[in-house]
Amino acid sequence: MLYQSTRSTHSVNSLQAILEGIAPDGGLYLPTDLNNLSVKAEDLMGKSFEEMAATILRTLFDEFTEEEMTEMVHRAYGGKFETEDVTPTVKVGEDYVLELFRGPTSAFKDVALSMLPVLITEAKKKLGITEKIMILTATSGDTGKAALEGFHDVDGTGIIVFYPNGGVSAVQKAQMVTQEGNNVTVCAIDGNFDDAQTGVKNTFAACGDKDLKSKGVMLSSANSINMGRLAPQIVYYYKSYCDLVAADEIKMGDTVNFVVPTGNFGDILAGYFAKCLGLPVGKLVCASNQNDVLTEFLTTGRYDRRRTFHRTNSPSMDILVSSNLERMLYLASGGDYAKIAGYMKDLNQIGEYTVDEALFASLQETFAAGCCDQEQTLACIKDTYTTYGYLCDTHTAVAVDVAKAFKARGTQDKTVILSTASPYKFPVAVLSALGEEPAEDEFAVMEQLYARTNVPVPQNLAGLNQKPVLHTDVIPKDSILDYVLKKVEA
Ligand SMILES: *Cc1c(COP(=O)(O)O)cnc(C)c1O
Repeated sequence: MLYQSTRSTHSVNSLQAILEGIAPDGGLYLPTDLNNLSVKAEDLMGKSFEEMAATILRTLFDEFTEEEMTEMVHRAYGGKFETEDVTPTVKVGEDYVLELFRGPTSAFKDVALSMLPVLITEAKKKLGITEKIMILTATSGDTGKAALEGFHDVDGTGIIVFYPNGGVSAVQKAQMVTQEGNNVTVCAIDGNFDDAQTGVKNTFAACGDKDLKSKGVMLSSANSINMGRLAPQIVYYYKSYCDLVAADEIKMGDTVNFVVPTGNFGDILAGYFAKCLGLPVGKLVCASNQNDVLTEFLTTGRYDRRRTFHRTNSPSMDILVSSNLERMLYLASGGDYAKIAGYMKDLNQIGEYTVDEALFASLQETFAAGCCDQEQTLACIKDTYTTYGYLCDTHTAVAVDVAKAFKARGTQDKTVILSTASPYKFPVAVLSALGEEPAEDEFAVMEQLYARTNVPVPQNLAGLNQKPVLHTDVIPKDSILDYVLKKVEA
């Protein structure tokens, strides 16, 4: 199947799209005939998560045979999630919560980052590429650990994760610096997340492919610009829908709204892909925290990144430039790549763009949006716990709050809220929301939260502070390139 850039007619097959991550013109890859592809929810009824994943992923990456994809999906997910369904949907009040945090690192990124290493390894084999793939990742916390968990000990790959020294939570840091594996490197940089991200981008630019190829290495990325990371996220929209039909909560064919806590627009875009493939999706509701650039865009048509960046209690959504929105604009404009390239140029150079009326109208047909500040987030955690006995993390709480406002405006459809992290990944905020004074040590706070709520601590987080620290490197923010070159030569 062909994948085309959002900024030109440049196209490659799906295997190359997975390996390259981003197109050479700076655009993002999309399947050229997304609107002609179809996956019927009725055909997936009664199937397991893995069976659904195999069907959906093969629809998007048809270079793989059914047999190959079935084996790959099993390798990615088999026995790795704490719940048998991988992504269970639970009823909370009159709504439903789709729990995406039951994986090895307790964040929703596990769903995609369990599958990406398998897709990369197999794409590489099919293309006859023999170089080692070195994954470079800058992280503000969740992606780094999920990527390490996905790539550790995967043959023919290596991974280096850079995180801001002092810029991640104690739990997130412990998750990364205790990572085992013969191909993993974790390094702190003296700087913030943007410095880490810029350093990694500059390293990609400075290395080009050629000079590393002689050393038998190819660089690649694990972030959500890669189609290999987006595609596995489509699966849980179908899974949740089929679960609601099976539980008699809806009838097959009924439309369902999905409310998505959003940062880089990857998760919610996967919902749009599901809709394109034929899933009966009502509205996709984009939930933002105080960094409400997407709420403004989806209600006015004007995207303006020139605003104050807020550090919030839902840090994984603290983002002002949502990369995957570019894909949505391309699709909503009917593939007008010249227009999209223009908007992206304006975003880069001026810091804003306004989409034309037709495009805006098309976005509004599919999307609704809302935002929620930090106080409201905490109040929502408390309210959801007190009213329904359901404990949610800060990111999920943003979505729960936005869902309430969305429903108050009126909808006939049932509403599913995507839950993206375990409350134990952000225990200080969650415990404070319940009105208790958190201890200084975050691991002690986890125990306080358990004592208060009896919600079990996920296995991977319990006992993390007893594990040996394996990674202690700290480097200046401008040394990322040198550091990578040294690792590559080692
Ligand atoms: C990454 C992340 C998000 C945002 O997802 P996007 O695909 O970037 O929109 C939301 N919540 C949590 C906990 C995350 O880790």
